[in-house]
Amino acid sequence: MIPKTPFQYNLWINGRELPAQSGKRFERRSPAHDALVGEYAEAGVADVDAAVQAARQAFDRGPWRNSSGADRMKALLKASELIRQQKEELALIETLESGKPISQARDEVDWAAGLWDYSAALCRHIHGDSYNALGPAMLGLVIREPVGVVGMITPWNFPLLIISQKLPFALAAGCTCVIKPSELTSGTTLRLGKILAEAGIPEGVVNILSGYGDPVGSRLSLHPDVDMMSFTGSTNVGKAVVNAARNNLKKVELELGGKNPQIIFADADLDAALDASVFGICFNMGECCNSGSRLLIQRPVAQEFVQRVVQLARAVPVGDPLDENTKIGAIVNEQQFNKIIGYIDQGRSAGARLQLGGEPLNILNGRFVQTTVFDEVRADMAIAREEIFGPVLSILTFDTREEAIEIANSTNYGLSCGVWTRDLDNALSVGRSVRAGTVWVNTFMDGYAELPFGGYKESGLGRELGRFAIDEFTELKTIQVHLGPRTSWWASKK
Ligand code: NDP
Repeated sequence: MIPKTPFQYNLWINGRELPAQSGKRFERRSPAHDALVGEYAEAGVADVDAAVQAARQAFDRGPWRNSSGADRMKALLKASELIRQQKEELALIETLESGKPISQARDEVDWAAGLWDYSAALCRHIHGDSYNALGPAMLGLVIREPVGVVGMITPWNFPLLIISQKLPFALAAGCTCVIKPSELTSGTTLRLGKILAEAGIPEGVVNILSGYGDPVGSRLSLHPDVDMMSFTGSTNVGKAVVNAARNNLKKVELELGGKNPQIIFADADLDAALDASVFGICFNMGECCNSGSRLLIQRPVAQEFVQRVVQLARAVPVGDPLDENTKIGAIVNEQQFNKIIGYIDQGRSAGARLQLGGEPLNILNGRFVQTTVFDEVRADMAIAREEIFGPVLSILTFDTREEAIEIANSTNYGLSCGVWTRDLDNALSVGRSVRAGTVWVNTFMDGYAELPFGGYKESGLGRELGRFAIDEFTELKTIQVHLGPRTSWWASKK
């Protein structure tokens, strides 16, 4: 149910709720109902500076980075427990702000809590290396230290999940953080502030600012006291973050867009591939960096498979995201809605064949779009190359494995790929040749906290998740220890 009064939010700085220094506030209306669901403090440059100062002091003086792994683990486990306790309200906020179906929002809260659990385990496994064969007088130690103050900027499609792919890993490493969620969906991230305080994370370690990309995101990326930026969002803004980070040569980690192919060979389990093809484009309304937005089908089975995709996609229920049965909810905002409709028009005029959908839907007071399927798509068309971020599927055909690999690699992106075949040789040859950070074989869009996630090419820089995430949020330090009397440089010169 939509709450009678909108949720109220302030900034979270140094362990306290604060209004913006300018006193400004902004509103969020639900994409499905056009109801007022949130009112937020609107941060400006002065608030960013205050949040960075709090994070800097907490890092430089504070107890967090010097705390034991065992203590950090307890706090992160407590956080996951509190996230689970507040699941219903967090899911409701997520659905009201993003337009995603409530069942998918609940799953998202569970996945997020699982990432806090996993990061808790990592707290006790942060270690370096030692070199004991450098000669009798030398012991070499390589230790990991937290990178420092990390700025985090997140998008609107999976607000709680995406911040949970970053924040608990940075905290496990001992970093302090300043977070800017998307202004469209800041609710669950701001809720984390209080959750983390209750879990025992000291003040100043986590600071959260609701506000716009310009000035909040841009100031954070430029700020000289921020040591690293961790960004998820569009490739263009990712490049802007890299540019700004040059200011003080911050470390940068980026999770960007994708135009992910699912490659279906004629020998595949076609029933399973069918289900995953429709899931791949409908999940989260297609507003998903991992969306399977390109389907590459081997020619002998293509015609029949396309008809089955159309039949199944037509049956997927679109509607009120608060309805338990809905599988496709509303599009997040007007700009995104227009972008999707614009790509559908481009697909039509470029000569792709519209097999399903293509029109807006008049549901509630919201922005909804029909699930849309194009076949006869060529690899050079915009709908085959560019990230649409909506429920729009582009189907291409291929004859040989080599051709499938060539098409799969023909975009600037390289986030993920699905391969469907019963032939192990095919599966692994394609998996090794496609330039993507994740390859799924006979499945699609599964995720595990243990497994690193990130992109090749313009899909990103660095990796999140898994034990490798600790590498991202730490610096290596070499300590060389001389044992016994040291030979004098001056003496040896003689
Ligand atoms: P953006 O990349 O524009 O936004 C992501 C985050 O960056 C938001 O918090 C945004 O703030 C912030 N931001 C905007 N400008 C700057 C800046 N100059 N410096 C620092 N931070 C900034 O994504 P959108 O939300 O606008 O979505 C547009 C497209 O991006 C989508 O259609 C999709 O293609 C892609 N996208 C990809 C995602 C992914 O997971 N790979 C996720 C989301 C989007 P603000 O609150 O003002 O928006």
